[in-house]
Amino acid sequence: MRNITLGTTGITAPQNGFGALPIQRDDMETSVRILRKAYEGGITYFDTARAYSDSEEKLGEAFGNNGIREKIFIATKTAAKTPDAFWKDLETSLNNLKTDYIDIYQFHMVPQCFKQGDGTGLYECMLKAKEQGMIKHIGVTAHKIAVAEECIESGLYETLQFPFSYLSTKRELNLAALCKEKNMGFIAMKGLAGGLINRSDAAMAFMAQYDNVMPIWGIQKESELDEWLSYMDKTPELTGEIKEFIEKEQTELAGDFCRGCGYCMPCPAGIQINNCARMSLMLRRAPSESWLNDHWQAEMKKIEGCINCRACTTKCPYELSTPELLKKNYEDYKKVLAGEVSVR
Ligand code: SF4
Ligand code: SF4
Repeated sequence: MRNITLGTTGITAPQNGFGALPIQRDDMETSVRILRKAYEGGITYFDTARAYSDSEEKLGEAFGNNGIREKIFIATKTAAKTPDAFWKDLETSLNNLKTDYIDIYQFHMVPQCFKQGDGTGLYECMLKAKEQGMIKHIGVTAHKIAVAEECIESGLYETLQFPFSYLSTKRELNLAALCKEKNMGFIAMKGLAGGLINRSDAAMAFMAQYDNVMPIWGIQKESELDEWLSYMDKTPELTGEIKEFIEKEQTELAGDFCRGCGYCMPCPAGIQINNCARMSLMLRRAPSESWLNDHWQAEMKKIEGCINCRACTTKCPYELSTPELLKKNYEDYKKVLAGEVSVR
């Protein structure tokens, strides 16, 4: 496993980072066990966020008072919209993480590229926090490509975090090259495209082509961790078989598809958009029986109640026409249920 250095931060860690969003769904004991096992297995880069409920607390519990903190790198995020909220978030994160500094403090899913003098006062807060030693580096996470490009161009950020996988578009993949040119760290989230990629070796082999990309794999179960740790000694390579598999996947998933991120929710009609808008893909990429049970039939039926308010479309970072996508998936779902279309 190669080490990645995140641009000017100097942070160097194995190209196998830990995304700590899913451990929200584990209990404290399980999370601490998984996090410590990750560290013992060689993972030293951990990414969390103030918005991931108790994820920071779990990291604090795992690494806070046992001498491990200084041996790892912790990145967290704030979605604050005002300076007051920024300082409150930072204080909470430091307490939760049981630390007195954060290695990379990131603006979370920014709607714009925050800059000095833009009237929000937020970038000024970052500078002050860095001056005071509360944070070591300033980073940003984005979901909109134009905003990400502006953040790189601004020269104000030391790292960019963006969804990045072999299903990304050319323009999205080019972000890694742009960051390299600017000597800026690039952190890849959603390396499994929100669950659509189901071969970790292919995902890892794809990432390993880049010498400046740090993937943060979302890990909830010990078995998932074991899979990523198994690559520490032997990193998968882009063999002919894996290349062929990736090309097939790219053809199958070309065009606009729902990544399942859930940023468009809640929906006033109660539709579980993050699963229903990609049901056709899930039916074909995961055992279909579980998606065809009574529960999911009832969930899919809710699409009939869409009031076309377009709130989802406005919030979708991928600018998808969500109501239309839902309807398309519902039509396909009904055909699969009726046996008119085979998914096997
Ligand atoms: S347009 Fe339909 S799916 Fe989207 S938020 Fe409104 S009701 Fe929900
Ligand atoms: S429609 Fe857009 S925002 Fe909603 S889950 Fe899918 S990708 Fe995410």
